[in-house]
Amino acid sequence: MRIDVITLFPAMFQGPLTESILKRASSFAPEGATADRQDDKPIQIQLHDLRQFGLGKYHQVDDSPYGGGAGMLMRVDVVVKAIESVKAEKVGRVGKAKPHVIYFSPRGKKLKQAKVEKLAKKDWLILLCGHYEGIDQRVIDGGWIDEEISIGDYVLTGGELPAMVLIDAVARHIPGVLGKEASAHEESFSASLDRKKEYPHYTRPEEFRGLTVPDVLLSGHHGEIEKWRKENVK
Ligand code: SAH
Repeated sequence: MRIDVITLFPAMFQGPLTESILKRASSFAPEGATADRQDDKPIQIQLHDLRQFGLGKYHQVDDSPYGGGAGMLMRVDVVVKAIESVKAEKVGRVGKAKPHVIYFSPRGKKLKQAKVEKLAKKDWLILLCGHYEGIDQRVIDGGWIDEEISIGDYVLTGGELPAMVLIDAVARHIPGVLGKEASAHEESFSASLDRKKEYPHYTRPEEFRGLTVPDVLLSGHHGEIEKWRKENVK
């Protein structure tokens, strides 16, 4: 899978994408650099600094809202230029794939596991991170966005954290990302648990300050263990 991120703050992605599972799973190209398109990592992530598409000497990307009010809006001409430029980058693994463009917004549809699984089947995602008061509505009305997604009913300062949340959640469903030690099967919200929350887990020691492990888990009876786990999803 290829993921392009359009953001005013590419440096925010250092850390979440450069550690642990996502580090192993993805080739990560920070602003200015180019992902190694020949590599065999399951995910290629390319960041694009929206400011490079800004207007004039100061690379202006935002403006004050018509009708007045607090805050600034990201301009339609700048944002569309960025989206079209990224779409035109038909290189490497993308091939003939059609990009799926997502804009993060509290007004969007709330992200759920079933949607995460659907997105994980796409070949190419373009993620647009809003900032300030958001973007000019015409980016959406003009058809440049395929889908608006919210990560919850609260307001953040920008779409960068939502983009990282989505990348992380989607990555767990891309073949080759999770090792044998972890699997996206039979987890909270997965279809195999009827979209319910997972059963509890225990590991050594068998007793800790008087707290014990349910006997059935120590019994070695796989049938009983399965039954206990089924009973303890919620
Ligand atoms: N004026 C907007 C909030 C803008 S917050 C409103 O009242 O709905 C600035 C940016 O942060 C948004 O453009 C969006 O990209 C991102 N953002 C904030 N909260 C979010 C959420 N819950 N889910 C997804 N994106 C969010």
